[in-house]
Amino acid sequence: MKFHALTIFPQMFHSYLNEGILKRALDQKIISFETHNLRDWTTDKHQSVDDTPYGGGAGMLMKIEPLYKAIKAVKKTKKNCKVILMSAGGQKWNQQLAQEYSKYKEVIFICGRYEGVDARISNFIDDEISIGDYVLTGGELPALIIMDSITRLLPGTLGNNYSTTEESHSEEGVLEYPQYTKPAIFKVGRKSYKVPSVLLSGNHQEIEKWRREKQKKNK
Ligand code: SAH
Repeated sequence: MKFHALTIFPQMFHSYLNEGILKRALDQKIISFETHNLRDWTTDKHQSVDDTPYGGGAGMLMKIEPLYKAIKAVKKTKKNCKVILMSAGGQKWNQQLAQEYSKYKEVIFICGRYEGVDARISNFIDDEISIGDYVLTGGELPALIIMDSITRLLPGTLGNNYSTTEESHSEEGVLEYPQYTKPAIFKVGRKSYKVPSVLLSGNHQEIEKWRREKQKKNK
């Protein structure tokens, strides 16, 4: 799977993707990514990617030309490729969409800044995606969040010991059961916090039953 980020802050991607599990996925060639600085597709000497909105109003908007040129240059194939605009007003990202996107070969992320993007962008994208009902300063973090959630679903990323089908949201509305690790009793002053005894019982049937109960409660 290849990720492309169209952005004015390429460095943000290098920093996050080159740590932890994502770095391992890069090393193992499960994913690859390329950043494309939108200023490379400007023609004026200040390399401006933004301008004032028609009709007036606060702030600046991202211009359509650099975005269009960048998409055209980066999108080499129509097959198995999605172009998505990060947008506070887009379709809400969730685990089901992550699963759907994990089937694509290439995803191109358009990261807005300022007050957003010239609306004519809608002619050149496949989807508009929001990561939640709040407004951020740019689309870079949303793009990274989406890259992260897709990558952990790709075969080989998490290794064989890990199942992505037993997790929160892998089935809609179902959350993971509570989990514990050593020590069995955690003491703070005179208080002790114990691991539920069923999990120490060794009775796999009972453990399974307990987990299903706890999982249902989270619905
Ligand atoms: N004026 C816009 C917000 C602009 S924020 C509005 O009212 O919707 C600047 C950029 O940050 C956006 O163009 C988008 O690319 C990104 N962004 C902000 N919040 C986001 C969110 N919740 N999900 C995805 N992208 C977001």
